[in-house]
Amino acid sequence: MNKYWSETIKGIAPYVPGEQPRVGRLVKLNTNENPYPPSPEVLNAMRAAVTDELRLYPDPNCSLLRETASRYYGIPAEQIFAGNGSDEILAFCFKAFFDSGDTILFPDITYNFYEVYARLFGVSYRTVPLTESFDVPVEGFYTCNDGVILANPNAPTGKVISLKNLEALVKHNRQAVVIIDEAYIDFGGESAIGLIPKYDNLLVIRTFSKSRSLAGLRIGLALGHRGLIEALIRVRDCINCFTVDWIAQAGAIASLEDTETFTRNIQKVIATRDRITALLRQAGFRVVDSSTNFLLISHLKVKADALNEALRRQNIFVRLFPKPRIDNYLRVTIGTDEEMDILYQALLELVRETRETQVTLSNIEPSAKPKDGSRDM
Ligand SMILES: *Cc1c(COP(=O)(O)O)cnc(C)c1O
Repeated sequence: MNKYWSETIKGIAPYVPGEQPRVGRLVKLNTNENPYPPSPEVLNAMRAAVTDELRLYPDPNCSLLRETASRYYGIPAEQIFAGNGSDEILAFCFKAFFDSGDTILFPDITYNFYEVYARLFGVSYRTVPLTESFDVPVEGFYTCNDGVILANPNAPTGKVISLKNLEALVKHNRQAVVIIDEAYIDFGGESAIGLIPKYDNLLVIRTFSKSRSLAGLRIGLALGHRGLIEALIRVRDCINCFTVDWIAQAGAIASLEDTETFTRNIQKVIATRDRITALLRQAGFRVVDSSTNFLLISHLKVKADALNEALRRQNIFVRLFPKPRIDNYLRVTIGTDEEMDILYQALLELVRETRETQVTLSNIEPSAKPKDGSRDM
């Protein structure tokens, strides 16, 4: 704290990203990165972009990238915005579509950045509780509001909303912008992009960080009605016209063109996810149905923070969210099969040890009865 800080900054709790530890051998399953490398075509395109041209500012409109995305998604290029990661685009959305005094809606359990941006930009919000089984109750979003923001599939639950329910939600909210953050949609669920021609209040956000193995490049897209895209351009051009550098534009174009590597890596992640889900359930873990590249898991007897600490000591990093309703869960990114086997063996040992030695009571939930709705987790 410092006397020169603004009141907003004094009062805000910024987003806390997962750790990026720099120790030798570790199993890093804490930030939903893709375990497989980006396509060699992407790396070659980026190397080819390292030329004298870098003395020039990049194309602020990312025209070639947007044209490539237009062919890929079947949406006109004027209806696509490219940004420096989808987090940046989400931040722009708050300035583009909401005013202070507005009240927006998002689920009680979702991506933490929505709350951080609302506070930063002075936008009020109401949270809609997920059901016991962590599903999004779409009718909860039919109430009066000035905007809706949803991750689909949701994070950190991994659960998906059906396209039918999503369309109903968009239809019920024609007075406001509905933002659908599809960071994980390539791993499961149906995209809302197909609804864009029908609804001028729908904005779909995509990232290259998860399914395209490019978290380090920082590329995100927004797709929606021209009017919405123009608002994002206005905000960007009031802050920084050149958010996406030449090298990132070249890499992102190549990524959209190489569907083979992309599809293969996604299939590998999904196969690993389904295999580990079954194993963990057999071992007594509650595993929320996931349509993403991560799992939300909890054990009936051993507390999540005890597991987290023990895994850490073995250099296995997963994520724990100290938030109501999910503080006894671990969010585990799907890594390679080898990494997941290491995690699985470690977890198996930890829950077995607990059973044998009946460890200290502090490691054990007072009542180990499954909560309602645990059937479909
Ligand atoms: C990872 C993630 C993002 C951030 O993506 P970037 O493009 O890397 O900024 C956005 N939304 C959700 C729900 C995410 O999990």
